[in-house]
Amino acid sequence: MVDLKRYSNFRIGGQAKYFKEAKTAEEVIQTLQWAREKKLPIYILGGGTNILWSDKGFDGLVLKPDFNFIEVEDFYLTAGASVPMSKLIQAAVSRGLAGLEWAGGLPGTFGGAVYGNAGAFGGEIRDIVVEVMSLDTETMELKKRNNIECEFDYRASVFKKRGKEIILQATVKLEPGEKRILYESMMAKINYRKRRHPLEYPNIGSVFKNVPVGNLDKELADPHRLVVKTDPFPVIPAAYLIDKAGLRGVSCGGAMISPRHPNFIVNVLDAKADDVLALIELIKEKVKEKFKIQLEEEVRIIN
Ligand SMILES: Cc1cc2nc3c(=O)[nH]c(=O)nc-3n(C[C@H](O)[C@H](O)[C@H](O)COP(=O)(O)OP(=O)(O)OC[C@H]3O[C@@H](n4cnc5c(N)ncnc54)[C@H](O)[C@@H]3O)c2cc1C
Repeated sequence: MVDLKRYSNFRIGGQAKYFKEAKTAEEVIQTLQWAREKKLPIYILGGGTNILWSDKGFDGLVLKPDFNFIEVEDFYLTAGASVPMSKLIQAAVSRGLAGLEWAGGLPGTFGGAVYGNAGAFGGEIRDIVVEVMSLDTETMELKKRNNIECEFDYRASVFKKRGKEIILQATVKLEPGEKRILYESMMAKINYRKRRHPLEYPNIGSVFKNVPVGNLDKELADPHRLVVKTDPFPVIPAAYLIDKAGLRGVSCGGAMISPRHPNFIVNVLDAKADDVLALIELIKEKVKEKFKIQLEEEVRIIN
């Protein structure tokens, strides 16, 4: 049994029945075969910065790939799925390679960022990915996909849609840049996050996706009616809707809707997953009531 709190940036969750870190594709395959024989459900874990584990824990195998290499050839950077994004950006910036600065301060792993097409400050991982290698957990086949085949979408990819593959490594293509300018650009993002995000409390980032304006009825999408920002296409920030629904600072048990950034729920005092889920439901209900907009979770909720 392993305490999942240790593997969530939220510091919330029960216990996993089995937990395995795997350093090679062979080790991943062996572990998957073992789990299959035991008929265990599997969950793939990256850095745990976007996951809400259940208070009941996970009655199966949590598999954490531990692929930690970075290789650079000309403008191509290939890295293992478990490389923290902070290390990846550092590797690019220190070599004068541009294209990753938007991810300054983005927590989590490279694999997690590919899985969810992570994005910030107008950039997204899909802008730079040229190849992803993954392992199909059912057929045990290795797959290589180019950018188009990854089917990237707003906070989504083929890996998220299929939910049956482990990302092992990926390659990004960068551009030449000036180290000092890249460094300053990366630091500006890190500092912006420090100012705007409630990083003093355990959290899993923005709980809800922003609302693409294109998905809304004409009347609701009227930019004069609601605030719109670019993300990298026009969206209504979920934080704005939650704020206008009067929910800033509302709490349940040990969890609170952050007064600083209302799309963050923070663990202020030994919160339970159920406290967070109650706040998620409250937000969805109130925003629907006030704006007729159905918010959709960005975070992964594991029941
Ligand atoms: C303070 C804070 C700020 C954040 N800001 C942003 C932001 O600006 N933009 C943004 O997009 N996100 C943001 N996030 C959310 C989060 O950092 C990203 O979604 C990140 O990419 C998740 O990576 P991870 O490794 O932590 O994934 P995890 O949380 O471990 O997992 C997330 C999902 O990815 C899957 N996954 C992870 N690794 C693999 C793999 N190797 N193969 C297959 N599936 C995998 C998991 O199964 C799970 O479904 C923020 C989070 C925090 C805490």
